Amino acid sequence: MRYNLRTGRLGFKVGKLMFFKKSVKVQKTFLIAPKLTVRRFGMKKIGNIIEKCKILFNKKSQLTRIKPVADAVKIFNLVKHVALYTTALAVMCFIVYGSFMSLNLTVAKNVLIDGKSVGAVTDIEQFKTYYSQLHEELKDNLGDSKIRKVSYLPCITFNDSVDDQYTLKQNIMSLYDGVINAYSVYADGEFVCAALEKTDLEGALETIRTSYGNVDTATFVQNIEIKNELVTNNSIRFGKNINKELLSNKKAEGVYVATKKQSMWEIASMFGMSIDKLETMNPGLLSSVDEGTQINVIKSVPVLSVQTSAHVEGEFDIACASEVVYDKTMAKGKQKVTVAGENGKQFVKKDVVFINGEEVTETIHEKTVIKEPVAKVTVVGTKLSGVGTGSFIRPTYGSLSSRYGTRWNRQHQGIDIAASTGTDIVAADDGVVEFSGWEGGYGNLVKLSHGNGYTTYYGHCSKLLVKKGQVVEKGQVIAKVGSTGRSTGPHLHFEVRLNNVPQNPLQFISSN
Ligand SMILES: [Zn+2]
Repeated sequence: MRYNLRTGRLGFKVGKLMFFKKSVKVQKTFLIAPKLTVRRFGMKKIGNIIEKCKILFNKKSQLTRIKPVADAVKIFNLVKHVALYTTALAVMCFIVYGSFMSLNLTVAKNVLIDGKSVGAVTDIEQFKTYYSQLHEELKDNLGDSKIRKVSYLPCITFNDSVDDQYTLKQNIMSLYDGVINAYSVYADGEFVCAALEKTDLEGALETIRTSYGNVDTATFVQNIEIKNELVTNNSIRFGKNINKELLSNKKAEGVYVATKKQSMWEIASMFGMSIDKLETMNPGLLSSVDEGTQINVIKSVPVLSVQTSAHVEGEFDIACASEVVYDKTMAKGKQKVTVAGENGKQFVKKDVVFINGEEVTETIHEKTVIKEPVAKVTVVGTKLSGVGTGSFIRPTYGSLSSRYGTRWNRQHQGIDIAASTGTDIVAADDGVVEFSGWEGGYGNLVKLSHGNGYTTYYGHCSKLLVKKGQVVEKGQVIAKVGSTGRSTGPHLHFEVRLNNVPQNPLQFISSN
């Protein structure tokens, strides 16, 4: 007898219909089975269902087939069954999903290293990267270069049973030679050092915490934690070396505020950084910065810092102020202190907070002035002497277009500096305006007398900014470049005369 699961048809040879003898009328060539009740086996999920079948005999193949008759009852049963089955499945899914959510279940991979489980992870790629780094680190520290076989087994686990990096690291380390069970100090979650005895670490920490003398409170700025864990044996410290590690510095990102106009080179060398690194950390900053600019740097900072606070009572100085008074009857460059100034005194009650012994903030509770400070007064002279120093600065910016000496068979009594019209011309030294006006071939001319035998000439100006008799200061703008008088283009004709004898100006001014 054959039962076809796919078509749901039952087939058997005629001779084997014995079982149904009583209810089936057998004919040699044709089998008529108007309606027959058979028990249909084989479909486990549906179970044993009584159903009505038609029996047909195929003469050619000599096979008798029983074909189930789909009647109303059967269809109803089938629909009911499917509906129940679907509902049950939906409910199941809902329950399972609900369990996943409420119990925080997750699909993970159990990591096996050389067949030993080290923990569950959810991201294999991430784990692979981490393990290869850790293996390198352990290899360097322990000299253990043995390659270990890593395999993964799928598992369903609680979310909070997925192992964090710390647990994984500890479990992995236990498989390496040269690790030891010890105590480690962590500052804000960062490993500092390890020791065999917990009391050694606690003692060293206490020595550091209480090293700031008689204070009201003393606490570590960092969150300090001592963990009992596996460490590589080269990270163990003994005796004074524990204190040394706890008092060491580490490199950390910080901010530096420029105290004056500073170049980036200067700042880089202050912090022992490369200029490239400094530029990367401060995109867009120019090669020099102004006072007060905040710059990201790598600073050396203590691994541990102790914050102390103390109540302070006593007399403190009040710094005296400094005043400047300008006096136009006193020669420029001279100054004198007229009031020496004196610090004041006050009685103060305050609470002061220190970090590593340096005051960071203070809260003043009481302040009584015992003696007011007296400001220091300095009088600064502003009167120009009109007497030159004997050294000259270049009177304008431009290129030297003609030197002092013979030119076209004529003596050129000064130098020509080519510059565009309107460029500032400054006094080459302190002096008094001897002439300011038009003078023949010079065009608009300024003559300065320096009171020391020297006079200077500024010719071909487009504009004159000083008047005869005016006292001028070295570097003061006195006129503008032009092309007045006998001139073929805008330039400054500059002469230096000693006792009215023309000199080569380049002997007096640098060639800048
Ligand atoms: Zn000239």
